[in-house]
Amino acid sequence: MSLLIGDNLVVTMHYKLTDDEGKILDSSEESKPLSYLHGAGNIIPGLEKALIGKVAGDSLQVKIEPAEGYGEIRPELIQKVKREAFKGVDTVEEGMVFEAKTPDGSQQQIIVKGVEGDQVTIDANHPLAGMALNFDIDIIGVREATAEEVTHGHVH
Ligand code: ZN
Repeated sequence: MSLLIGDNLVVTMHYKLTDDEGKILDSSEESKPLSYLHGAGNIIPGLEKALIGKVAGDSLQVKIEPAEGYGEIRPELIQKVKREAFKGVDTVEEGMVFEAKTPDGSQQQIIVKGVEGDQVTIDANHPLAGMALNFDIDIIGVREATAEEVTHGHVH
């Protein structure tokens, strides 16, 4: 008997994520496989949906559009700020990535898009926003979550 992937199960898998040009964006191959709690919003919605009903040993390839991935690019998250907002940073250059705190206290990645004089253009969109995501998945294991994992909404 194999457990079919569904809510309150812990799924362990290897994954490879590529963009539409075949460039590898992320992969679990050189690290540990990823474990997540199904139905708890631990992974992007499109991937969670694609895994429903699969079992350990299954492999799948799935293409996920931005709406079911990291969302569309939101223009309002691209802003110009003054150079002095980067306290203690000697050089601010295009491509640099900073961590910033949002008003609700969570961490957010900010990418520097450009520098013009005293003006720095920053982008707070998720780096994978607006992109179609191609996943290669190998499901390694499926088990029941513990009551504590279900309460916490993540894998222990
Ligand atoms: Zn916990």
